[in-house]
Amino acid sequence: MNQHHNSSSPHRALVIGASMAGLFATALLRKAGWSVDLFERSDVELFGRGAGIVTHRELLDALTESGANIEQLGVAINERIAVDKNDQVVERLDFPQIVTSWDRLHQLMRATIPSEHHHLGCNLQSVEQSASGVTARFSNGRVEKADLLIAADGYRSIIRDIYMPDVQPIYAGYVIWRGVADEGAMPKSARDTIFDKFAFFLPPNNEVIGYPIPGQDHALERGRRRYNWVWYRPVDKKTLETMLVDENGAYHSLSIAPPKVRQDLIDEIKRAAEEQLPPSFRDTLRAIPRPFFTPIYDHFSPKMVFGRVALIGDAASVGRPHIGMGVAKAAADAQKLADVLRDPTVRIEQALAQFENDRLDIGLKAVERGRTLGGYLLMSHDNNTTHDAHWILKNTASSDFLKTQ
Ligand SMILES: Cc1cc2nc3c(=O)[nH]c(=O)nc-3n(C[C@H](O)[C@H](O)[C@H](O)COP(=O)(O)OP(=O)(O)OC[C@H]3O[C@@H](n4cnc5c(N)ncnc54)[C@H](O)[C@@H]3O)c2cc1C
Repeated sequence: MNQHHNSSSPHRALVIGASMAGLFATALLRKAGWSVDLFERSDVELFGRGAGIVTHRELLDALTESGANIEQLGVAINERIAVDKNDQVVERLDFPQIVTSWDRLHQLMRATIPSEHHHLGCNLQSVEQSASGVTARFSNGRVEKADLLIAADGYRSIIRDIYMPDVQPIYAGYVIWRGVADEGAMPKSARDTIFDKFAFFLPPNNEVIGYPIPGQDHALERGRRRYNWVWYRPVDKKTLETMLVDENGAYHSLSIAPPKVRQDLIDEIKRAAEEQLPPSFRDTLRAIPRPFFTPIYDHFSPKMVFGRVALIGDAASVGRPHIGMGVAKAAADAQKLADVLRDPTVRIEQALAQFENDRLDIGLKAVERGRTLGGYLLMSHDNNTTHDAHWILKNTASSDFLKTQ
């Protein structure tokens, strides 16, 4: 068991959850002079499961500050386009951006953390606090003590459940179907129309988007990359409940793991794509063997700090993915936390109060922004309405609204 902080040793933090928020918090707090250990419930490293991630300036800043090498970060794109049902481009927006994969980011950030401080197979069960610090207990019997505990345990956070049990994910009324296609498996016509771009197809109440990401082994060469394909579709809550049942009749609460999505649902989305999507997006889906769906939720915790426990990333708040800000917000939360905790002469409680003061409002803005952009999926359209593709392209691109005051 580790000892509490004393004046001759650095402060110690426990970080729970080794996905994006946890990796950034560990790397940045170590740089700020803390002793940090990161605990993940998964028994195996998390790579191999993620799809596309859009980068923003906030994310690039946090990567650089963490010491990650961002030279080969992802695929550089220059513009956003919207196509109509016949693949004619109906809107364009110049917007240079790097798009990448969750796996690539995980690889870069994981490399910043020494293995002796990265602990797999550690499922946090309870947290206790005293005047001098926190004690974390794990289901494998491990007990750890520290000056601070950082909850980076995602949108179903058990740590948030301890302190804010009323804050629960709220279903948005739609799901995303998604998958990745190998560049080489896409027909040339689809590649020519959408591959090097952030592309949209925007029929009423639906949003189909796609962008290129690195391929296997993070390959960036032409021909070896992949295309991240996403279809937002409204699904009422009752229907969602039936979709969360797997082939064996087992019900999965909130979300279902990709391999467990039923074949009849996959067949149905493929049929719908044949009728409803333009050739580029339709043919890209044909190249994806097993698309899967994720219900969209958001939530906002009105508090991020509970004594010596701080919530960051999705544990604190989740904005719907239209703004592509989940990872950037997690990284910026971690960055702010490390900033306020850098000076060892400042009391931890005082530093945490400043962190909460700075980041709560940003989380709320992300949630509100996601709701505004997602509103399009559930609004009533008459058949003659053409909605403003320019507005959607522009507003899903910018992260300016997240700037700290
Ligand atoms: C494997 C994986 C792949 C992903 N792929 C994508 C993607 O392709 N595109 C995208 O937009 N988003 C993806 N996400 C989500 C994305 O990482 C988050 O939305 C965002 O980055 C904020 O991350 P987070 O670290 O706050 O939460 P999360 O990414 O949800 O991570 C929470 C972590 O905490 C761990 N954890 C939970 N409870 C406990 C516990 N009791 N004890 C110990 N550990 C615990 C979880 O196993 C998980 O690793 C993925 C998440 C994961 C875990």
